[in-house]
Amino acid sequence: GGEVRFDDVRFGYDPEREILGGVSFTVPAGRTVAIVGPSGAGKSTISRLLFRFYDVNGGAVVIDGQDIRDITQASLRSTIGIVPQDTVLFNDTIYYNIAYGRPGASKDEIEQAAQLARIHDFVITLPQGYDTRVGERGLKLSGGEKQRVAIARTILKRPSILIFDEATSALDTHTEKEIQVSLREVSRDRTTLIVAHRLSTVVDADEILVLDQGRVVERGRHDQLLAAD
Ligand code: ADP
Ligand code: ADP
Repeated sequence: GGEVRFDDVRFGYDPEREILGGVSFTVPAGRTVAIVGPSGAGKSTISRLLFRFYDVNGGAVVIDGQDIRDITQASLRSTIGIVPQDTVLFNDTIYYNIAYGRPGASKDEIEQAAQLARIHDFVITLPQGYDTRVGERGLKLSGGEKQRVAIARTILKRPSILIFDEATSALDTHTEKEIQVSLREVSRDRTTLIVAHRLSTVVDADEILVLDQGRVVERGRHDQLLAAD
């Protein structure tokens, strides 16, 4: 499962000012759709609506055929995992940071999530491995390493829908390239919505929507959009 559908969604934080003017798209189960566009276009608003932080003013947000207004908040939260732009890590071990919120997770599950997110690669080079403390009073991880911890933490909860909300926007291009591999790996076979600034970061998406002022102004695959540029 995990199909996401936005059906002619209209929304404004303020009834006087429409932010989304009828947005429609489908992310088929297991596929990846990206939303790119300039700052203020309404990209984050789309992920907030998917979490139902706000209700739509028109149209509907639908998961697996069900209007999200008919889904409990608890169920919605366990279905969706989000990797945000700025991950705040706890002043604790890497292990704790991955397992946070999943007290029942086994060591195997945690290692598996770490492999997928490619944090295993750098953790094994650390003297204390997963017991290394990070944060202000510990080891300072790079932006890319922090994001990999965030990815591992998110996939550990086995969400059927994954959102990368500007997950690489704060990274330099080199680090972004590195982390792209982990993103590709974890998004395979999972319904994924990528919200990003740059077209260059969403090369692999099955469909890319270009959002401008709350409207989809173009859509297609990466090569098609480049050709139209
Ligand atoms: P993007 O993610 O594409 O940068 P956003 O979805 O964050 O765009 O914002 C779209 C528009 O909605 C912007 O004009 C922004 O100022 C406005 N907006 C965002 N959040 C709020 C809010 N909580 N209250 C009122 N307006 C908001
Ligand atoms: P859980 O115990 O399922 O992790 P949480 O309340 O920690 O429950 O979060 C549920 C999901 O909602 C997580 O994927 C989390 O990243 C996301 N989430 C929580 N708060 C916010 C927020 N303010 N903005 C975006 N996503 C959020």
